[in-house]
Amino acid sequence: MRVIRTVAELRAALDPEHARGADVGLVPTMGALHDGHRSLMSAARGANQVVVVSLFVNPAQFGRGEDLDAYPRDEARDVTLAEAAGVDILFAPPVEEIYPEGFDTWVEPGKIATYLEGAARPGHFRGVATICTKLFHLAAPARAYFGRKDAQQLAVVKELVRDLALPIQIVACPTVRDPDGLALSSRNVFLSPAERSVALALPRALEAGLAAHRSGEDGVRAARQVLDAQPGLRVDYVAEADLDGPTLAAAVVVGSTRLIDNVPLD
Ligand code: AMP
Repeated sequence: MRVIRTVAELRAALDPEHARGADVGLVPTMGALHDGHRSLMSAARGANQVVVVSLFVNPAQFGRGEDLDAYPRDEARDVTLAEAAGVDILFAPPVEEIYPEGFDTWVEPGKIATYLEGAARPGHFRGVATICTKLFHLAAPARAYFGRKDAQQLAVVKELVRDLALPIQIVACPTVRDPDGLALSSRNVFLSPAERSVALALPRALEAGLAAHRSGEDGVRAARQVLDAQPGLRVDYVAEADLDGPTLAAAVVVGSTRLIDNVPLD
């Protein structure tokens, strides 16, 4: 596996691959890799000749007062994990390589970015759409892999690719969970053991919501009841939305950690 830090090197590495018609699979990540990321890499490895993983904590998708500085970073561990997953290229650029002095062009998603995460984190999806567009141009992948864990992000990216007619297949991968039900997330390391047991109300609530929905009841109400009954947790939102299909989505704050999760309703 090659670790590449510049746009020029990435292009130089991929040009011959594109020239010989090799399919590139791209997995965009912010690092602190876990089994959720690993499942995306494994899907990419199974379907492409060349697998590129990007590792970039994208400042543009963090709002003021969010956890950009505290976001977990462990490149040495990520390199080991990516290499073991059969990744060919780990693209880990410094911030100034992606946002050089004077950078001032943005990709602005529409209505999809105005509610749920978009409402809670103004500008977040503009940052996501901009970095994804840039990575798509740099790697020119045949396929790019995204987790359903971030269902609204997946919906934003699908819309972006459709609207700008990018020749990329967006592959959606199911949410990977710990055995206790908590969706894997790089931010889970922030949870103390006590907070973690509080956080388990989130997947429990979504399961209750899904069960209620299946029996013709109000899934949002059922999920909210579970969350409201859980001390030590603040509900940001619980909602049903069309995020690449009907989805029950929720965001909660436990201690100082904000967690999102969702279940598909179809
Ligand atoms: P991140 O590094 O958190 O930006 O995530 C990079 C990619 O991995 C995104 O497409 C996420 O949706 C995906 N991902 C993160 N956590 C999980 C998970 N638990 N299961 C499946 N995919 C995930």
